Amino acid sequence: MSERYTKYQSYGEIKLQVSLKKYTSLRVGGTIDAMIYPHDLNALLGLLKELQEDDIPFKIWGMGSNILASDVHYPGLIIKLDRCLKSVVFQGNKIFVQAGVSLIAMAYLAADHALSGFEFASGIPGSLGGALFMNAGAYKHDMYECLEKILVYRNLRAEWVEKNEIEVKYRSTSFMNHRDWIILEAVFNCNNADKERILHTMEERRQRRIASQPLDLPSAGSVFRNPDTMSAWSCIDAVGLRGHRIGGAMFSEKHSNFIVNVDDAKAQDVLDLICLAQAKVEEMFKIKLNPEIEFFNWSHHG
Ligand SMILES: Cc1cc2nc3c(=O)[nH]c(=O)nc-3n(C[C@H](O)[C@H](O)[C@H](O)COP(=O)(O)OP(=O)(O)OC[C@H]3O[C@@H](n4cnc5c(N)ncnc54)[C@H](O)[C@@H]3O)c2cc1C
Repeated sequence: MSERYTKYQSYGEIKLQVSLKKYTSLRVGGTIDAMIYPHDLNALLGLLKELQEDDIPFKIWGMGSNILASDVHYPGLIIKLDRCLKSVVFQGNKIFVQAGVSLIAMAYLAADHALSGFEFASGIPGSLGGALFMNAGAYKHDMYECLEKILVYRNLRAEWVEKNEIEVKYRSTSFMNHRDWIILEAVFNCNNADKERILHTMEERRQRRIASQPLDLPSAGSVFRNPDTMSAWSCIDAVGLRGHRIGGAMFSEKHSNFIVNVDDAKAQDVLDLICLAQAKVEEMFKIKLNPEIEFFNWSHHG
């Protein structure tokens, strides 16, 4: 089996038989055949071409901070972009950022250049690609406010896609309906602002996160999108699930829209909590709670 993957060694560093517990912020998940860190953009493009020719199943991941990977083995390859595609270039008010850049690092770099627009992102532990995929956001701001265009790999080539060609909603974008499209790079147009003010806002928000989120335990951030009429955490509170535990997973006591891994949780424990909350909230409020977390390698979810 290893020969099936070692042929891709010229494109990047390969690890065989990897446990996803190490690569998801929730610290759950089964094994996969292989994980590869491409050397750079050219290597990634060459690899994608060859994988498609060889008909090998693969998935692109950033930092694994929004993923619930099933406990079952995945017979394919995960391409991790968070060690390559790390370039950030500033040109006046524009920022050219590659998909593997950490959102937190980017928010601080923008602040350093006295550019406003990413203050909201300073506590979101993902990559630029993952954040654009689902339109990450916080404090009523999101990834697409300052976006100009995205370099996307689709139909076997890389092409620039303008912002108005992408459908963007609250924690959702067209990328979620085109899961074979790969975000390579983006250009943002930011506003000039006072550096100290930007840093002050970022610090205030960091403190708010520390006060309200269970950052000392593994999680994947908010589990559910907020429904139109009430917040997800208040739905979960109302049905009495704050602090409720199944196996090693628990709705956090500190923030009930976070599921935390308190004791070597199985992915199934997390899924059982998700289904339980959905059923109870549907029964009490006739509201369907939609997960914000991405499901990986489940036969009945995406
Ligand atoms: C403590 C904590 C706090 C969080 N707070 C917030 C918050 O305030 N707001 C918020 O929105 N989210 C939050 N999150 C969730 C998460 O950090 C974001 O969703 C982040 O954008 C995910 O980025 P990632 O690189 O980790 O993506 P991954 O988890 O690696 O991937 C998520 C999805 O994106 C796809 N993807 C990744 N990269 C690419 C690419 N280059 N091209 C195409 N598809 C790609 C993957 O295939 C997968 O389907 C939080 C998570 C944690 C653990």
